[in-house]
Amino acid sequence: MQIAIIGAGVIGLATAWRAAQGGAAVTLVDPAPASGASSVAAGMLTPVSELSYGEEPLLRLGLASRDRYGAFAAELAEATGLDTGYRDDGTLQVAFDADDLKLLDDLRAFQEGLGIPVEALTGRECRRAEPMLAPGVRGGLLAPEDGSVDPRRLAPALLAAGERLGVRLVRRRAEGVLVERDAAVGVRLDDGTEIRADRVLLAAGPWSGDLAGLPPGTVPPVRPVKGQVIRLRTPVPFLRRTTRGLVKGSSVYLVPRADGEIVIGATQEELGFDTRVTAGGLWELLRDARELLPGITELEFAEVTAGLRPGSPDNAPLMGPTALPGFYLGTGHFRNGILLAPVSADALAAMLLDGPVPEVAAPFSPARFSTEVQ
Ligand code: FAD
Repeated sequence: MQIAIIGAGVIGLATAWRAAQGGAAVTLVDPAPASGASSVAAGMLTPVSELSYGEEPLLRLGLASRDRYGAFAAELAEATGLDTGYRDDGTLQVAFDADDLKLLDDLRAFQEGLGIPVEALTGRECRRAEPMLAPGVRGGLLAPEDGSVDPRRLAPALLAAGERLGVRLVRRRAEGVLVERDAAVGVRLDDGTEIRADRVLLAAGPWSGDLAGLPPGTVPPVRPVKGQVIRLRTPVPFLRRTTRGLVKGSSVYLVPRADGEIVIGATQEELGFDTRVTAGGLWELLRDARELLPGITELEFAEVTAGLRPGSPDNAPLMGPTALPGFYLGTGHFRNGILLAPVSADALAAMLLDGPVPEVAAPFSPARFSTEVQ
C-alpha cells in the first residue's frame, strides 16, 4: 500500500509512523516539517481541564489519547533514543477571584457528573501544591492524570521514528491532489512532479483548505485560529506542574519543562493567516500570568511566537475517508492536536490500511459536515 501524506505536523508525522509500522510505504510531503502549530504549541495534555459543555465525544477522544501517551512516548524513546519531555504530573486549575471560583465550581460539577476524578483544593492547598502562587488565589481543581509534552521534541522524535521505518520525506509544497477516474491517485508538487499513491491523507493543519484539484464538497471546513505564546527561562524550579488560571474571567496557562522553560499561553484570535505578535496579546498574557504568579517578572524572557490552530466548525477533528475515493482527511484538531496525536495516528493509520478503527474516533468522520465534504 502506497500512502502519500500532505503535511508533516504532529498529525501527519504520527500517522506516517503508525502507517509505516502497519507495512505501508509512506511519503510525507512538507516544505518545512513541523513548522506549523506543532512548533508553537505549549503541549498541554489536559482533556479534563479543557472540558467544555457539549464536547463530551471530544473529551472521550482526549482521555483515550492521554491514556496512550505514556506508552507512546516510551515507544518513541525506545525507537529513536529521543526524549519527548512527556510528564504526567497533573494539572492545577486555579481561580483568582470569587467569580472565577464560581466558574471552577460549575466546571467541577460538570466533570464529576461525567465520572472524571478531580480534586477540589482551597487557596491554601493550591499554594502548598504550587508555592509560587499569589496569596490571593481563591481555590482550584487538581486533575491528577493530565500532563504535558514538549512539541518541539515530539515532532523530531516522530520524524526520526518514521524515517527508521522507511518513511520518505519530500521537502516540497503539495499544490494539489491528483484525481483520475473520480478517485485520488496521488499528489502534485509545486515543481510539477507527481507522487502516485493508493491513498492520500490531507493533514496540512489550517492550510488544509488550500489544495487545488479537489472536487467541490471535499474541501475540509478548517480555518486558522491565531494563538500567541511567550517562552521564559528559569535556572531554578519555579512551577511543579502545568498551571491554568482564570483571572477575572480571562484564561491563562503556564507549562513548565524539565529544562527550565516555561510556556505562557495563549491568545485566541480569529484573524485569518495573520501570525504577527502584538503588544496587546503579550500584555494580556503577562498581566494575567503575573496576577497568578507574581514572581514570573523575575524570569528571563526567551521567545515569543504566534501560531495558527486548525479550527473546525465544532472544534473537533475531521478524521477519515471523504466522498472522493482514496482521499482521507486528518485535520481540524484545533486546540488539542498535540494531545490527540496518539489516538488520531492509530485511527487514521487503521482507516488508511483498512484495519479496525478505535470506537472513540467514530464521531469524527468528515461526513458529519456532509454539505461541505460529501
Ligand atoms: P500543523 O502543526 O499546523 O502542521 C501542518 C503542516 O502542514 C505544517 O508543517 C505545514 O508546513 C504543512 N503544510 C501546509 N500546507 C502544505 C502544503 N500545501 N503541502 C505540504 N505541506 C503543507 N494542542 C494541544 O494538544 N495542547 C496544547 O497545549 C496546545 N497549545 C497550543 C498553543 C498554540 C498557541 C497553538 C497555535 C496551538 C496549540 N495546540 C495545542 C494545538 C496544536 O498545536 C494543533 O492542534 C496541532 O499542532 C495541529 O497539528 P497538525 O499536524 O494538524 O498541523
